[in-house]
Amino acid sequence: MAVFYMQNAHTLDSFSKVENEALRLNDEFKLDTIRFFRNSVEIYRRFNEWKGMDRFYFIPLKLSMTYSVGGVSVSMADGPVYLGTFVRTTLEHPDMFSFCCPECGKVVYPYGYNGSPLSGRVDLQGICNCGWQGYEIVSGWRKRSDVLKAMQAEDKLRMAKFKMKSLLKKQQSTIKELLLWLDQNSV
Ligand SMILES: [Zn+2]
Repeated sequence: MAVFYMQNAHTLDSFSKVENEALRLNDEFKLDTIRFFRNSVEIYRRFNEWKGMDRFYFIPLKLSMTYSVGGVSVSMADGPVYLGTFVRTTLEHPDMFSFCCPECGKVVYPYGYNGSPLSGRVDLQGICNCGWQGYEIVSGWRKRSDVLKAMQAEDKLRMAKFKMKSLLKKQQSTIKELLLWLDQNSV
């Protein structure tokens, strides 16, 4: 499968709008997260290959998981959500975070979960191998938030060790580097 690690503002797809906005703001962090959106199928599929590598596991994602109402914002998870934690949460709790593609019926693993703690509605946003892009509406914001936070807690010690190493030498990577690595190591 082709990977799209270069940003390309001319590609018109469902991510173009948010990508153009990030380009305008020079938001490299957001642009890198959009690379995860576009390549989520491949990144999920090859999780076993990169999950053991801290520098990829702890790539921070810029996800909009915050819901604001009346000046108060509530987040589904605190702090940066890391790629490895996010992907692992989906894969280990498919009953809550995956759904069937309405076009072909295959399992879709989302690149984002957005929702409202008030209505409880969560949109699982994803793309499928068959080309379908969209979201599935589910209910149960609170239980998904609890699961994601618990997964973050599980990764805390590993994160602390990684941070210590990163103090000595820059370790943190990007989605762009992960995609290059996947490309170079594809069989
Ligand atoms: Zn499909």
